Amino acid sequence: MPRTEALIFRPALEVSFEEFGILIPIADDRTSRVLASLREAGVDTSRLVQVVEEPLITREDLLRVHEPSYVEDLFSSGLERRLLEAYELVDERGGYVRYAPERASRPLSELLTRVLLGATCTYLACLRALRAGHAFSCAGGYHHAHAGFGHGFCVINDVVIALRRLMAEGRIRRAWVVDVDVHKGDGTAALTKDDPSIATLSIHMAAGWPLSLPSTLPDGRPHPSHIPSTVEIPVARGEEARYHELLGEGLTRLEEHLPHPDLAVVVWGADPYEKDELPSAAELSLSLEALFERDLLLWEFMRAREVPAAFLMAGGYGPHAWEPFARFLRWVFQGEGNVNC
Ligand SMILES: [Zn+2]
Repeated sequence: MPRTEALIFRPALEVSFEEFGILIPIADDRTSRVLASLREAGVDTSRLVQVVEEPLITREDLLRVHEPSYVEDLFSSGLERRLLEAYELVDERGGYVRYAPERASRPLSELLTRVLLGATCTYLACLRALRAGHAFSCAGGYHHAHAGFGHGFCVINDVVIALRRLMAEGRIRRAWVVDVDVHKGDGTAALTKDDPSIATLSIHMAAGWPLSLPSTLPDGRPHPSHIPSTVEIPVARGEEARYHELLGEGLTRLEEHLPHPDLAVVVWGADPYEKDELPSAAELSLSLEALFERDLLLWEFMRAREVPAAFLMAGGYGPHAWEPFARFLRWVFQGEGNVNC
């Protein structure tokens, strides 16, 4: 099968935090465990996966989404400060947290290339979904990045970057972003609040980061993390039994707000998983089967309306983070999803 027929995109160099001295519990082997699980299930992944070696996302693409001064920082000597900020590696007194530069084997600045590769996978997954009906990216979903700063481990907002580029290229006119990561998609909501061509849904834990952030920025302006998505679904602790009902209702509201989109991007976080290890993801806890049911609900909703969908493996931390992704992808590629692959 030629490379262009791939349905899963993975960057040649993934963000491996340890190499940069960053102590965030993202298992570097998440993608390889997912693909190994598919192979064990008899799926020929060599026909499915395209390894992305060159970033195709450019400065011009970033400028459709981010403030010019922020983009300038990313491509100049301001990069390191911006990366420390986005990965939250400096405390209020200027000391390092979760960061041990003496343990780094690579300069921090190389992280930008990795992030651009991840954003490229997002863009390619969107392109492929437009032709095939669906596609998956093993990276991306940097939904916390705002116009003028990054936070929550997100430097640039690949989701909005990909959608605006596809619009500039005349490939799509209207899109949905369906964000099922456990953390509110704050950057995406803020970036698209005045954009009638993109409608967003975020279902997330009702308490905790980023909703716990102050209501104003240090300069006194309102903090953009509190801007609601088009459809905002906070799920309180103990409300997990209603998760699927709330998601289903939310999808209906999204469709009422913006019917017949050309594309949906799913920020496909695995961090609501009960075995996730990120402390800030603990407010919402779903079983593997509940996450599978969530993914089926999304899949069927898109399929019934013939909305092409690009799924981005977003948050998911610790040694079990691969399991929800693998569970659903096995279902898709073993044929139950009625996919010809
Ligand atoms: Zn998350």
